[in-house]
Amino acid sequence: MYSINNSETIQYNLRDYDKVKATFSWKYCARELSGLPDGKGLNIAHEAVDRHAQNHLKDTVALRFIKKDRSTEDFTYSDLKIQSSKFANVLKKLKVKKGERVFSLTGRIPELYITALGTLKYTAVFCPLFSVFGPEPIYQRVSKGDVTLLVTTSKLYEKKVKQLVERLPSLQYIILTDATEHLSDKILSFSTLMDQAGTDFKIPETNPEDAALLHFTSGTTGMPKGVLHVHHAVFTHYITGKYVLDFHEGDRFWCTADPGWVTGTSYGIIAPLVCGVTSIIDEAEFNAIRWYSILEEQKVTTWYTAPTAIRRLMRMEDIKPKEAYNLENLKSILSVGEPLNAEAVIWGEENFGFPILDNWWQTETGGIMIANYPSMKVKPGSMGKPLPGVEIAIAQVNGKQLKIITDPNVQGQLVLKKGFPSLFRAYLHEEERYKKCFIGEWYLSGDLAKKDAEGYFWFIGRADDIIKTSGHMVGPFEVESTLMRHPAVAEVAVIGKPEPNIGELVKAFVVLKDGNEANEQMKMDIIGFARKEMGPAVAPKEIEFVESVPKTRSGKILRRLLKARELGLPEGDISTLEES
Ligand code: ATP
Ligand code: MG
Repeated sequence: MYSINNSETIQYNLRDYDKVKATFSWKYCARELSGLPDGKGLNIAHEAVDRHAQNHLKDTVALRFIKKDRSTEDFTYSDLKIQSSKFANVLKKLKVKKGERVFSLTGRIPELYITALGTLKYTAVFCPLFSVFGPEPIYQRVSKGDVTLLVTTSKLYEKKVKQLVERLPSLQYIILTDATEHLSDKILSFSTLMDQAGTDFKIPETNPEDAALLHFTSGTTGMPKGVLHVHHAVFTHYITGKYVLDFHEGDRFWCTADPGWVTGTSYGIIAPLVCGVTSIIDEAEFNAIRWYSILEEQKVTTWYTAPTAIRRLMRMEDIKPKEAYNLENLKSILSVGEPLNAEAVIWGEENFGFPILDNWWQTETGGIMIANYPSMKVKPGSMGKPLPGVEIAIAQVNGKQLKIITDPNVQGQLVLKKGFPSLFRAYLHEEERYKKCFIGEWYLSGDLAKKDAEGYFWFIGRADDIIKTSGHMVGPFEVESTLMRHPAVAEVAVIGKPEPNIGELVKAFVVLKDGNEANEQMKMDIIGFARKEMGPAVAPKEIEFVESVPKTRSGKILRRLLKARELGLPEGDISTLEES
């Protein structure tokens, strides 16, 4: 129990949402986190690492790496303090300046985490990239981000980076995680630098408004944007760790997000450390059997993943996780990135004994903003309720006019009131685009949603994806969720296809579950099912069977790509497309 306003008490795990929401103040975080010694400001790495290295958590495992071969390597909070200090000293030696950009291009290896935390300590800006990016997407991002230093592996350097170096005048150093010696004055060895670096580093004065993180968005709706966050964002990491992820000391948390995506930093690195729990990090990519066995072996208590992974597990109908594995330590599973169909929430309940908790946020918000809290009644298909400390509403947006809708169940744009610490401070080098996201004190998310009478938010779709058919506004997610309930459907993506008579026609791309035949009969069956469930006006009129639907690396369905292909238009930016 923590005291707030002296008279009120709030609990770690948000047992009484309404009360906490009513009394919450961000000042609470200022009391909980220590801030830099001598009042020298607020630094994410201090809160995540150094603070715990000085208290009773110093010998607690902060990060446990599971390598591809299943061997493990542990770093306690003390170890992590030393390693991140060493890396900060490396940056000092290389004369990197405060605010300059340090990029990473690696998989989930210890060097990535040490780079991230050392960079934050040093008060340079950390920017992770997906290691699967090809040379051009890498070039676009590092050049837009004015890269000073890049940490990568020898293989990725040879294959993807070497050819770009001439075109990157701001790039001063490349540090190779696996080189045993420096290759030149510019291409350096991580281990050599670290061996020579001192273990003590005094974090310089850090203003909470100092830039800390640069993340590129998923590129679902177009060219990815470079989103800038400041050290103050750690308040959101902390609060969401306590309330949404429900962290308690001794917890073992596993976040499966790729480190190149904002979730990989906010929850793959920062939030669990700030809350003093143990993070499990698996180097390998998705594999259902491996994943279930890691949950069991590592006694994972809290698992954070994405709808695409959950749907893949659901497809493996012959594995009953609760029967096949001992998952008694697992107390919650959370999901982000895409709408989580009600089906999946219920599947969680049936297969794990608790519903899967959906939550909503964006690169721009820096942390979870709407959530189903562990203590709250879950309405399957809903994103849940706003984070205490953040005002979220549904608004009608008309040009520069914004009107908050107070009636329940009315569809509109999801808007967030400025003033919470992790809201982004810039789209790098795109000031106009940034300004366009705000009307007065409201940030426009670009997503459509509605709020019910009990205050739960329901996702409708991205404003760009909404289908206008015969005078109806149809969100693709609503149609996809219905089709997912058909027993033969494994995955589905829905788009609007221009059609002169009705505006747009609803078309579904369907992946069938194994053992089902893709034929006319099946098409009729699925269309019939949808018509019965949702009415003929919004049910799909066209179905195409596909082997897979295109997704971003962060697991989001690229509907705009399906649409471009359907219409024979250029594919646009597909740098984040996951090869299937
Ligand atoms: P870009 O902005 O480049 O088009 P993106 O919006 O996909 O890409 P992210 O910031 O990674 O990039 O994703 C945030 C978006 O993901 C949200 O705006 C929303 O559309 C979707 N999203 C995230 N979580 C959920 C959720 N729980 N339910 C529904 N949609 C979600
Ligand atoms: Mg977006």
